[in-house]
Amino acid sequence: MSEIPEIESKHTPPAAECAHCGHMLPHGLGEKTCVVCGAVCRVTHQPTVDALASETLPCPHCNTVVEAGSSDRPLDVACSACSGVFRITEKPYKVEIECPSCDRKLRIRPKPGTKQLNCPACDAAFNVTF
Ligand SMILES: [Zn+2]
Ligand SMILES: [Zn+2]
Ligand SMILES: [Zn+2]
Repeated sequence: MSEIPEIESKHTPPAAECAHCGHMLPHGLGEKTCVVCGAVCRVTHQPTVDALASETLPCPHCNTVVEAGSSDRPLDVACSACSGVFRITEKPYKVEIECPSCDRKLRIRPKPGTKQLNCPACDAAFNVTF
């Protein structure tokens, strides 16, 4: 078994909110279940779908530019020039949060619900809710 090289996608859909309770849904496209109220919402974002399908990336084997051709992530694609296979992975979704005590910006991967954060600059602990 040889490892498939992975490239991170350049696009990711924006955060979606539950249509019922307004909390953030688990990130991604397709059917998502709200962790707060349990409603199942269908998340679509056509500009991102189009951008993902037409995304072009250099083949890690031979550097030929290859078009993804599908909005699925992760996506295994075969290079048309060298037949090498590689995987396009999902871009991690992050948001910037400002520490309420010292205004330091923290970049975190948001998860639905309430999360406690500790500021690395001033050690303040605070809660964020998505
Ligand atoms: Zn909900
Ligand atoms: Zn190639
Ligand atoms: Zn702080």
